[in-house]
This record gives sequence, C-alpha cells and structure tokens, in this order.
Amino acid sequence: MRIGVDVGGTKIEAALLAPDGSVPLRHRVATPQGDYDGIIRAIKTLVDGIEAEAHCRASVGVGIPGMFSPRTGLVKNANSTCLIGRPFDRDLSAALGRPVRFANDANCFALSEASDGAAKGAAIVFGAILGTGVGGGVVIRGEVLTGINAIAGEWGHSPLPWPRDDERPGPRCYCGKEGCTETFLSGPGLAHDHQRATGEALDAVEIAARAAAGKDSARQSLARYADRLARALATVINLLDPDVIVLGGGVGQIAALYDEVPARWGAYVFSDEVATRLVPPRWGDSSGVRGAAWLWPLEPRQPA
Ligand SMILES: [Zn+2]
Repeated sequence: MRIGVDVGGTKIEAALLAPDGSVPLRHRVATPQGDYDGIIRAIKTLVDGIEAEAHCRASVGVGIPGMFSPRTGLVKNANSTCLIGRPFDRDLSAALGRPVRFANDANCFALSEASDGAAKGAAIVFGAILGTGVGGGVVIRGEVLTGINAIAGEWGHSPLPWPRDDERPGPRCYCGKEGCTETFLSGPGLAHDHQRATGEALDAVEIAARAAAGKDSARQSLARYADRLARALATVINLLDPDVIVLGGGVGQIAALYDEVPARWGAYVFSDEVATRLVPPRWGDSSGVRGAAWLWPLEPRQPA
C-alpha cells in the first residue's frame, strides 16, 4: 500500500492509495503555521493514523510547495516559508522511520494524471498548473523529470512568447522581471487583463461564466487568454513534444480552453500538424496526494 501526503500552505492531507487506484482512507489537518517541527509531527500523526486504521505499513511519498536544492539538499522556492532552508527530507524520513520520496506539487499533479489519470499510457506528459501562479511538471514514461536544478517544467517565469506590442514589456512579476508567462496566464493574470480592457473587476471563473453566456467583453478576454496560452504551450510542445498536456489549477476548469487552445496552437508549433492532446485533469484536487503516493511504484522493483 502507498500513502501520499500533500503539504499545502493551509492544509496537510494524507491518503491511502490502494493498488486498484481507490482511496479508502483520507485525512487532513490544518498546516501548523510557521512551525517546522509541528509540520513533521502532523505528518507523522496522519501516517500513523492511516496505517493503524488500515493495518498495514505503507510507502510514503510527499508533495511539497517547493523543491529541494540539488546543491544543498535543503528546501527552496516553498511558499510554506518555514520549510525553506530546512533538511525536510532527512527530518521526515527519520520521524517516519523509512525512506520518503518527495516532489513538488506540480510534479505530483503531472505524475498523478500520467499514472492513472487523464494522460494514462502517454509516454511524455506535461502537467500545466494555471492557478494563483503558473507551474508545471514533466513525466516521461511514468517518471518525474526533475532536472539538475530541480526546475524541469517551470515555464511560468519564462517570457510570454511572440509578444504583441501591447503585451510588452508586460506586467511586473514578483520574481523581479516583467512579462513572465505567469503574469498573463495565472488566474489573477486573466482577471487583471480583463480589468485593464473593461474596467470590470471579475475573477477568472466569473469571466469564463460571462463568456459562456455570450457576453462580448468576456469572450474577448477569454480569446486573448486562449491565444496567449496557445503561444506559451507551443514553446512547450516545440521543446518537449508531449503526447498529452493536462491543465490543472482553477483556470484549467474553464471548459472552452480545451477547444480554443488547440484551435490556435497550430499557428505557433513548428510542425505541419499537432497530434498533442490537451485534456482536463481526471483527479482535480486529489492529484496532490495521488501523485505523491505514485512516487513509489505500484510493484516493488526487483533487486538487480
Ligand atoms: Zn516571473
């Protein structure tokens, strides 16, 4: 049996993933704020509780909002800032008395969808998170691609490709640059763009609802968004040539994108045809815990 743990900024969730893909047990607690030892204790309590209920000992995989620096082995780029600079992998493995595998939350999303989700069976999968930020993960033949800098798939802080005159230099990004893809394609990025064009303060879901109801200004905002997403994904396709791209995050729930974006990306991809499929996620909010559990293989590997 495998346990997946999703460490978020507001909650920590743990789930038992059965071999048939079902989740018989799932528990969550509020994330102890600013309390590193408290986070480790909370995870241990969740894992112990699930193992006691299920009468089993499980492998444990953990998704974190950040990653481990390959150079120092310490957490970096985490929005649960009390994890930053801490040897979270060593400390949690010691607390749980077993090796623990880690991945960032975007990689867990991609792994979950590639393993038994919307991209099951695909050789190369790009999971794109379009939420409060823009992130991404790459899974190749069932394995997360991490990379020497542990940033594989992080497309959000590259510039928006083929920028139009009114997209230059683009909004300022928290990373210090201007015109990052994230400033256009995050949920707040869509909301800001709509507000700049219309003066209306609406969030991404409201804009999508008005567009679906036929409101012109919202349709135009969504069309601009779809074209920008098509351009940004075209550079991903040129680089990775994925079989499947899965959209996660709140903006990934906008159904119209799954027609609008593939209708446009052919103009940008360096190929006479584009066989890549753009699909909605199967697992939604469960991807974090499911992908973390999938960090361990279904069958134990045979010793060499
Ligand atoms: Zn940026």
